[in-house]
Amino acid sequence: MKKLLFTLLLIPILVFGQLDRVEPPFWYAGMQNPELQILFYGKNIAQNTVSVSSGIVIKNVQKTENPNYLFVTIDTQNVPAQDLVFSFKNGKNVFTKNYSLKTRRKDSALRKGYDASDVIYLIMSDRFANGNPNNDSNKSVTEKGDRANPGGRHGGDIKGMIDHLDYLKELGVTAIWPTPMCEDNDAKYSYHTYGQSDVYKTDPRFGTNEEYLQLSSELHQRGMKLIMDYVTNHWGAEHWMYKDLPSYDWIHQFPGFSQSNYRMTTQFDPNASAIDAKNCMDGWFVRSMPDLNQSNPLLLNYLTQNAIWWIEYADLDGFRVDTYSYNDKVGISKWTKAILDEYPYFNIVGEVWMHDQAQMAYWQKDSKIGAIDNYNSYLPSVMDFTLHDAVGTVFNEDESAWDKGLIKVYDNFTNDFLYPNPNNIMTFLENHDTNRFNEIYKNDFKKYQLGLALIATVRGIPQLYYGSEIGMAGDKSKGDADIRRDFPGGWSGDKNNAFTKAGRTSEQNQFFDFTSRLFNWRKTNTAVHFGKMKHYIPENNVYVYFRYTDSQSVMVVLNNSNKTQTFKTARFQESIGNYKTAKDIFTSKSVDLKNDISIESKSVLILELE
Ligand code: CA
Repeated sequence: MKKLLFTLLLIPILVFGQLDRVEPPFWYAGMQNPELQILFYGKNIAQNTVSVSSGIVIKNVQKTENPNYLFVTIDTQNVPAQDLVFSFKNGKNVFTKNYSLKTRRKDSALRKGYDASDVIYLIMSDRFANGNPNNDSNKSVTEKGDRANPGGRHGGDIKGMIDHLDYLKELGVTAIWPTPMCEDNDAKYSYHTYGQSDVYKTDPRFGTNEEYLQLSSELHQRGMKLIMDYVTNHWGAEHWMYKDLPSYDWIHQFPGFSQSNYRMTTQFDPNASAIDAKNCMDGWFVRSMPDLNQSNPLLLNYLTQNAIWWIEYADLDGFRVDTYSYNDKVGISKWTKAILDEYPYFNIVGEVWMHDQAQMAYWQKDSKIGAIDNYNSYLPSVMDFTLHDAVGTVFNEDESAWDKGLIKVYDNFTNDFLYPNPNNIMTFLENHDTNRFNEIYKNDFKKYQLGLALIATVRGIPQLYYGSEIGMAGDKSKGDADIRRDFPGGWSGDKNNAFTKAGRTSEQNQFFDFTSRLFNWRKTNTAVHFGKMKHYIPENNVYVYFRYTDSQSVMVVLNNSNKTQTFKTARFQESIGNYKTAKDIFTSKSVDLKNDISIESKSVLILELE
């Protein structure tokens, strides 16, 4: 009887529920790459023959070892926007599925990504602001909201970001990078969302796809940009495809889990053993994140189309790619190139967390170092982790020495010859995986001024981590939750509301006012965005550099010593040239460039030459 009931229940599913998933859920007419690979997923779908509306060419139908998958590639060349109809036939059983090819936004292919004229604000999506307490838990996902749990879901969401875009505009940032927002249905620690379970769906605890699109639109209305945090290297163990793998080799199997050795040097080290290189790249980041095999062409195409779908759907201005150098090296370069072939002016920054400029430069597009082993990642931008390493110690090194103090920062830029494009590198004091700058320096405002002025005026694209601007601290050694604290004022009932001047403490206002002033000035200065850089060897722990174009020049002086320093300007004549005076951007006072310049201990001067 039980068996009969089961059979009776199953029959309607087989007849009427033939498709559980279609991905991408829709596509766009007029893409540069006309080939579209559509994944149809449903019980024994591979037993069907498939056809499509007249006039459309099916180029390829691919089955995998799992009969629940069918990958159908169609040619969309010269096919106008319309609803296509796919027909599936298995004996007498026939059913159809509509599929939309939508109209693209005007000039979508020409979208311009973020660049060095931007300041990027990194948001821990769950920890910034809870704009909608009603979505903190959702019946479709396992982990429920629990703000009392440091590693739990605190309720931050898209609405909270939209509600505070004017705060961010006042702060002077021009782009936001929220940590991933697609669904992560892990039972715990899902708040960071790097273990995604559905890459076409916004996590309901953040909002809906429509709200994500609204975030993009609200940013664009304010002249600001949206950067998506994209994860190609792995999915979460709750990903629907991991639970019913299309093929054994969809992920790297040993079989199953084996941890990466994290030694990314094995990817180019001429002395590396093959087994070490394989275990780095194919090993899993952590047990809960199955490592995707980007050398499987069906998977690679799935990831590429998913990325392009989000750019087109949400009108994105860029990607940040997680754990870039842990991906299959050739696969990830194809993924990156395919996106840039579609959007030549887009920007993508990869997380290449290494401690040596040559090793980081290897991963930047058109790298001469990569060319040594015939590798080109096509990745436009990397992150300046060596500058990050330096700023984490130098401001406690008061005395000048051969290898201490600002010489470390100076040395970082002496290696810029290694980078094909040093101005397309992200500079930062901290991010969501590091110690907080204000933790290291115990909220020393003078050291914050030095650090922030540095990343705001050297070459590259500055990135600020949420909360830095109000002096937020956090100790990585206490766990990730401490460096990902809730932004004060983001939750109703918070006693301290740092989103408003009146709500901030005097110390928070000190940090905020400096940050806002610096970044708003930065918006206006093209020499700092795109000018060349010329620097002078630090003397007495004072570092002087210029950013300049043919018509504009900025002189930056950082005094990292513990006393006032006075120096002659004659040494900088090749940069000062015919300029006579300069304006201090903080005090608006005029400085005569013929006179000696004095600068207080642990302070910064930013001078616009006139
Ligand atoms: Ca919420």
